[in-house]
Amino acid sequence: MNLTAFSKNELTAFYEDCKKTYADYQAQNLKLDMSRGKPSPKQLDLSSGLLTCLSNEDLLGEAGDYRNYGLLDGIPEAKRLFAPMLGVQPEELFIFGNASLQAMYMAVSYAYTHGLLGNTPWHQLETVRFLCPVPGYDRHFRITEHFGIEMINIPMNEDGPDMDMIEKLVTEDASIKGIWCVPQYSNPSGIVYSDEVVKRLAALEPAAPDFRIFWDNAYCIHHLCDNPKTVLPILEEAKKQHHENNVYIFASTAKVTHAGAGVSMLAASQENLKDLTKALSTFTISFDKINQMRHVKYFDGKFENVLAHMEKHRALLAPKFRVVLDTLNAEIRPLGIGEWSEPKGGYFVSFNAPTNCAKRIVELCKNAGVVLTGAGAAFPYGKDPEDRNIRIAPSYPEVDELQKAMDLFVLCVKMAAAEKLLNT
Ligand code: PLP
Repeated sequence: MNLTAFSKNELTAFYEDCKKTYADYQAQNLKLDMSRGKPSPKQLDLSSGLLTCLSNEDLLGEAGDYRNYGLLDGIPEAKRLFAPMLGVQPEELFIFGNASLQAMYMAVSYAYTHGLLGNTPWHQLETVRFLCPVPGYDRHFRITEHFGIEMINIPMNEDGPDMDMIEKLVTEDASIKGIWCVPQYSNPSGIVYSDEVVKRLAALEPAAPDFRIFWDNAYCIHHLCDNPKTVLPILEEAKKQHHENNVYIFASTAKVTHAGAGVSMLAASQENLKDLTKALSTFTISFDKINQMRHVKYFDGKFENVLAHMEKHRALLAPKFRVVLDTLNAEIRPLGIGEWSEPKGGYFVSFNAPTNCAKRIVELCKNAGVVLTGAGAAFPYGKDPEDRNIRIAPSYPEVDELQKAMDLFVLCVKMAAAEKLLNT
């Protein structure tokens, strides 16, 4: 029965019952962390072979001696390996360092200090704005906040961000310089952008000449289902509209091999690559080509081997997502006190509690030993206007621990919802 249909007496009894169970949890001194989407140790073990697969001879590669300086934009073998992942040509790829967030930060930083393709540096402008589909990735929002860029929330639909709103804003307001997008298995909602959304983004006619779509395809091969949806390659679509300079694509092997020690990449038009390369040549002499070659060697230079490797991740991750979804379905659905995503890939389940309950749920979980991502984290400035959204990250804990954490989570949802009803 829906919790809102409970009588006052029933609700009080329900709440008292929850409180007793909660006290039992507190007595267990749990210490579980579901705050970030980190791969589990077993997932990291899948790539242990990376640490032994490389010999000295392998580093005498197609374009020279990879132990030495040079090849700022990456080794050709790595470009060929990863180009199909992003739906681009090898020559459209720049292979970066250990993490894609660096590449995103660098692109914003370059726009801010020097300007993109000869345009006015953003620091000289009175106002710079970015569009932020919400809920979204907190670290994206941290980058733009760090540079004092004003962020505008864009609601998400089932097939991607609200394109009517984006088209209107971008064409009317030249201070809007970019948009954050996670097109496949968005963080945290798991939404996959439809063909129509990709085409409309690629066709945008921004008022700002230096507007960029920050296309962070971090989870493009992180499927949890058979026959996954494919997202249209945005650079190809943008080229058809002669808007290829509007797009920066990012990705990494953070959750393919080793998080924080992978290979990251940026794909863009030739003009953009030339522009960014100029900035990067001041930043460093070259990135870690040994790590690039290690990845090439480990996957034998074949993208299909990367995909086969992702199936092993899926085998470890899918049962954890099942625990989350089964627990929510069993405990929350009948009471009607929450909605959640059922992602077909990626790293998160996005949970929407009744209005003004998310902070309380996170607090209750914390006081019983389960740390969740802070409520509001998935919104610019950490402000969820409705205090509803909580990002559930099931990847790190083992299944039995996760079950315990989810049992506590649903209990806290019930308590917060009951408290709210009792107080109104
Ligand atoms: N992009 C998204 C959407 C993410 O969710 C994450 C990690 O959670 C990253 C980027 C981080 O990637 P990297 O480690 O390559 O910086």
